[in-house]
Amino acid sequence: MNISHHFDDATLMAYASGSLPQGMALLVACHLHWCPHCRQRLAEAEAIGGALLAQIEPMSLKADALKSVMDRLDLEEEIPLPQIRPVQTATDLPAPLHHYLQTNLDHLPWKRLGYGVHHIDLNLKGPGATRLLKIAPGVSVPHHTHAGNELTLILRGSYTDEFGRFSAGDVADLDGEVKHQPIVDTDQDCICLIATDAPLKFTGLMGRLVQPFIGL
Ligand SMILES: [Zn+2]
Repeated sequence: MNISHHFDDATLMAYASGSLPQGMALLVACHLHWCPHCRQRLAEAEAIGGALLAQIEPMSLKADALKSVMDRLDLEEEIPLPQIRPVQTATDLPAPLHHYLQTNLDHLPWKRLGYGVHHIDLNLKGPGATRLLKIAPGVSVPHHTHAGNELTLILRGSYTDEFGRFSAGDVADLDGEVKHQPIVDTDQDCICLIATDAPLKFTGLMGRLVQPFIGL
């Protein structure tokens, strides 16, 4: 796999500290599965985090601190898995996503979103949304900006936008300042995993028309 686009440092630090929303953490784990370069960077981020922790002065806890943590753990709700039938076939998915979906990309119950665009909401806990997007050749996603951060991992096919060409294994790590319009640039569907920590804001007329249906 020839990976040329990676996470920025802030995303890897947030992953190392466990502060990413569930969907973004899943996406980072998937890229790490494929990318030795980011695994090395993560190891360095964890070493820095550990060194910082070692410098923090210890502080005393309340007498009931352990009990209150245990009580909070009991309150954690179970996360429902999407209703997807398990199929035992070869997979082209990174292990963390295959483990979650229990099937491969060709056996998923894709739902139509609009012309040439299908999706599956992974129904992970928020904030933001985590979904798979399948975009047909030549189709472009409406111009949009981001209220928060958006991570995209290309699982199959490729697209081109203002930042270059992204193919399987690459990640796009975008913050709220960025406005882009990806277009699928081969004769193969492009399938991406997309995780946000806030809703997307579409711009332009086309964007405003599809926003209520996409709700990304
Ligand atoms: Zn990487």
